[in-house]
Amino acid sequence: EAGIVILGAGQAGFQAAASLREAGHAGPLTLVGDEPWLPYQRPPLSKAYLAGKTDAEGLALRPAAFLAEHRIAYRPSLRAEAIDRAGRRLLTDDGPVPYDHLILATGSRNRPLPVPGADLDGVRQLRGLADADALKVDLARVGRVAVVGAGFIGLEFAAVAAARGLHVTVVEAAARPMARAVSAEMGAFFRAAHREAGVAFAFDAGVSEILGEAGRAVGLRLADGSAVPADLVLVGIGVLPNQEIASAAGLAAADGIRVDALLATQDPSISAIGDCARFPTRFARGLAADGTVRIESVQNAIDQGRALAARLTGRPAAYDAVPWFWSDQGPNKLQIAGLAAPGDEAVRRGDGNAFSVFRFREDRLAAVESVNRAGDHMIARRLIAAGTPLTPKQAADAAFDLKGLAL
Ligand code: FAD
Repeated sequence: EAGIVILGAGQAGFQAAASLREAGHAGPLTLVGDEPWLPYQRPPLSKAYLAGKTDAEGLALRPAAFLAEHRIAYRPSLRAEAIDRAGRRLLTDDGPVPYDHLILATGSRNRPLPVPGADLDGVRQLRGLADADALKVDLARVGRVAVVGAGFIGLEFAAVAAARGLHVTVVEAAARPMARAVSAEMGAFFRAAHREAGVAFAFDAGVSEILGEAGRAVGLRLADGSAVPADLVLVGIGVLPNQEIASAAGLAAADGIRVDALLATQDPSISAIGDCARFPTRFARGLAADGTVRIESVQNAIDQGRALAARLTGRPAAYDAVPWFWSDQGPNKLQIAGLAAPGDEAVRRGDGNAFSVFRFREDRLAAVESVNRAGDHMIARRLIAAGTPLTPKQAADAAFDLKGLAL
């Protein structure tokens, strides 16, 4: 018996392994990953770990003993090159790994910045532990930092760098921060908060080149011709799903490996979960024409790992978890429930440094963004899961009993 093989030992792959054992899968279970460490959490890499508030041990999802106790055959530093579907084997640089069922949990990688100079020394990205370690060394020796992209990771990184007293400039192609993910109102709050912490911004600004001297980055050239001097450039312009191994094996993949509501690919012996998977969900209503999404979050990785483990141990159920996400930027905690689209109606509840923006699409509550208002976030998850009717007027009314509605 070949058992279940999981490709990718990140958040989703590890969760699937743990949940399979918890659900009673007794057969062989192999976890293959190309990184050398124990499976670890990525979120602290741009937060507590980068700021030196936790060490590498603190990142591990579980200690090594957990893998042994649960008979999870962990194969680190092993890269899979191809899937032999007919032979049911994963082909790796250390020989074939046979499977009865293959779980693809290959995650995503950073989108490269397609400009001259992107390969200079001093140009970095932040995806894995190795990136974070390199950045920690950099942060201790540079004075000026340029961040390309005002998304979650760029802004979290900017907050940590600014808190260390570095001179930080964030350059963003859109007109505001986190433009794809949050409302203009929430974006404005974070822009102001980062500015107060000393971060400078350039919006509507394209990067045309990374300037270099003797092989090292010395700044950015923007599309308008201006220059941003920097000793360190962090590129955070989104990710691409690691789907090539699936598409090369003939599985459908377009911005994500295509799976059904049970997280199965077209091959009944292969499933996909986490950042690499594109799946149908009711929460995509009015957002994607075909009703599918690909989500990059810890919640999605964990819940899909659990849902798939349930199916593979005889309890199939359509994946239907409410998407939620968080981002810590300096002292401010952003939490998002649901999936918003840039055109969604936005209604504010609360004020000052603690408020929520309720987003409505097609007359329904689609998402809630909260800053420093964890209570609203928890209520929002329940309202969105249940599809409880709520009007924009009720959401904006501080006297309206939201909590009572969610019970
Ligand atoms: P990954 O964690 O990327 O794991 C995939 C693994 O598969 C990787 O180790 C990869 O190297 C390996 N792999 C890929 N191809 C192969 C192959 N062919 N052979 C062998 N191994 C392979 N989410 C939140 O919800 N909140 C946050 O605050 C947050 N902060 C983040 C901060 C940072 C810096 C980053 C990078 C991500 C953050 N995320 C956050 C996103 C979250 O970490 C991801 O959504 C999550 O890790 C996805 O899990 P995954 O298992 O799908 O992919």
